[in-house]
Order: sequence, then C-alpha cells, then structure tokens
Amino acid sequence: MARTVNTQLLGKIKRHGSGGRLDVSACFNCGNCVAVCPLAEDAAGFPRRMIRMAQVGMEKELLASEDLWLCYACGECTQTCPRQADPASFMAAARSYAIAQYDFTGLSGLANRSAWGNLMVFALFSGIFSLLLAAKHRAGAPDAPLFGFLPGEWIHSIGVALFVLVGLSAALGLLSMYLHVRAEQVRKGHVLRFSALPGALLSAISDALMHTRFQNCNAVEEMQASSAEPWYKRTWAAHAAVMGGFLAMLIATTLDYLLKPIGSPVMPWYPMRLLGALGGLVCLYGLAIVLSRRWRAEEVPWRRSSFADWFFPLLLAGTVLTGLVTEIAVYAPMGEVGHAVFFAHVVLAMDLVAMLPLTKFAHVLYRTMALTLAGWRRAPATEAAADAHA
Ligand code: SF4
Ligand code: SF4
Repeated sequence: MARTVNTQLLGKIKRHGSGGRLDVSACFNCGNCVAVCPLAEDAAGFPRRMIRMAQVGMEKELLASEDLWLCYACGECTQTCPRQADPASFMAAARSYAIAQYDFTGLSGLANRSAWGNLMVFALFSGIFSLLLAAKHRAGAPDAPLFGFLPGEWIHSIGVALFVLVGLSAALGLLSMYLHVRAEQVRKGHVLRFSALPGALLSAISDALMHTRFQNCNAVEEMQASSAEPWYKRTWAAHAAVMGGFLAMLIATTLDYLLKPIGSPVMPWYPMRLLGALGGLVCLYGLAIVLSRRWRAEEVPWRRSSFADWFFPLLLAGTVLTGLVTEIAVYAPMGEVGHAVFFAHVVLAMDLVAMLPLTKFAHVLYRTMALTLAGWRRAPATEAAADAHA
C-alpha cells in the first residue's frame, strides 16, 4: 500500500519542547534504547521505532501510535544511547508535536513551539478573561466581601461557557487521536471487543492517577533508591500529590457551586472548603518536589526542561497559591490586596482550564486515551474473534 511521506517531519518535531537541542539524526538504529526501556513491549518497539518513523517521514504512523504515550520519560534510554541521540527528549518532543496536530485550533502548535508562543497564548487568554471579569467588577468598595467585588454569578457564567468550549476542544482532539489510532489498528487487522472497553478504561484511569507504569522505570527507581530518598519524595508520590490535590480542588469547587448559593458565606470548617484547602496544600507539596527536581537537573528525566515543562507547574502553583490567599481573605478581609489576589486567582484558574487541551497538561487526556486503546486492543484475541462473529 502506498504511504505518504512528510520529509519535513523530523525538523517539525525538533521545533517542539527541547527538541531543538537533540540530534536524533545521530541515531544508527542499534536498538540499545529498546533493550533497556522497561516499558517497550517488543524488540522493534519504541523509542527506536518512533525515531525511525520521524527520520523517514512516516507522520501518519507516528500520530497513530499508542507507543508515543506509553513512554513515561524516565530517561533510561537516554542514559544508554551510544550516540547521545537523547531518545527520551525526542519522545517528549514527538508527543508535543502530536498534541499540536490533534488540536484543531492551531493554538497548541503556537504554545508548544517556543517560549514566546506559550506566553502569547497565555497573554491572549489572560487578556480575554481579565476584560470579561473587569466588565462586571464593582470598584470603589475595598471593604466589600470578595463576591461583592466580583459577582459570583458572572464568574459562574464565564466558567460554564469556558468548560463547554474546552470540553468541545478536548473532545475533538481526542476524536482526532482515536481516528488516527483506529485507522492504523484496522489496517493491521486488530479487532476490538466492546466488553473489554470498561476494564481497559478503568486500568488507564488508575494508571493516569497513580503513574503505576512509571514505577517500572528502573533508572528512576534505582537512582532514588541509591540516594536513600524516602517514598514521599519520589517521583510517583509527587505526581500522585499533584493529581490527587488537583482532583480534590476540582471536586470541592464543583460541589461548592452545586450545593450552596453562589458566594454565600460558610464557616471555615465547611467540608467543601476544607477539601479544597487540603487539596491545594497537597498539590503544592507535589509541585514543590517537581519544580525542585527540574531546578536541580541532576536526574536524566529532569535534565532537559523546555519552557513548556516549567510553564504548566508554575501556572498551577500560581493558581493554587492565589486560591489559598483568597481563602484566607474570605475570613480575614485584606481590602484591595484581597480583591487583587482574588481577581488574579480567577484569571489564572480560567487560564489553566483554557490551556488544558493545548499544553503539556493535555498528556493527562491523550495518555489516558492511548492506554485505554492499547489495553482494549490487547484483550484476548479469541474472545475478540468470538464477539466479532456473534
Ligand atoms: S536512539 Fe540511541 S540507543 Fe536508540 S537506536 Fe538510536 S543510537 Fe541506538
Ligand atoms: S524515556 Fe523511559 S519509558 Fe520512555 S522510551 Fe526511554 S526508557 Fe522507555
């Protein structure tokens, strides 16, 4: 069957993430990276296969590959590559390129190609949300309660519209990914058994939350074990803290809107308020570990950080910190300072949601989808065949 080749593919991937600093053209296809990768499942597996696809311009196959998302950037392959081709950074850049291709708005490509592009998208969203909020803010009353300064109903309306738009954008991105992957599965003759979908989905969600596959990466675990690092400082624990804390804040905010009138006062021990504050502290703890590892850059997975690698945790940390100060300002009014922090918090929280399907954060969606599709495809072939003929 004739295949379309994109001769510019490798160059385009190198414009993403820290890809510009890597030289995969040095790769001579020795296979060391596949041999050491704790997650590669066959001798022809990733990352070598992905690098080969990029070198020969097989864009369709690259975008249709679940393997791209089964890599957890542990860096073990980079440590053993005899040509310093840095396959781990290549995989990260290829994932960033894939996110940009699945996104129909074009904003992801802009945000992920350079620091300036990332800041431009951030400034664009911040400007829009600031203007929308400023349109209804009530100035000249520094002692007014926070929801008097920015009407809760207005924040709620913008939030609902934002969630609908972001949900649509994320759904279209996921659909694009699914169509790419499924077309390749059909070409290879894979049959899917529908009864296997719930199990594959549950397993993928559990992995996305706990990073269980990442714990198989020997380089990271050996390094951390040799440095006698306690479990609560390890990478998987930091990841679980960020994800768990973020989910707790999301649940608290959602229930807050659903269970009580918007902006109505509650005592500090109101369960949703406690859940949100606790989630924020846990999330900050995980982010502090992640950011300090990036800063120290001692371990392979953290050595080559792109602007996008820094941007997302910093945006999340800024949102959580302003949220915690806002919580304090509810009970201990801070006048105009409290209003300014509240305003900044709402804008940052909206930025975070708006940029979810466009930036590194989109890994949460695409990796979960890839893990689901991979688990679904691997369901026992005999049952699949039985279902197909039923
Ligand atoms: S990336 Fe390095 S280890 Fe992997 S096949 Fe190429 S040269 Fe070998
Ligand atoms: S970074 Fe780790 S998981 Fe990813 S390809 Fe390399 S060894 Fe495998």
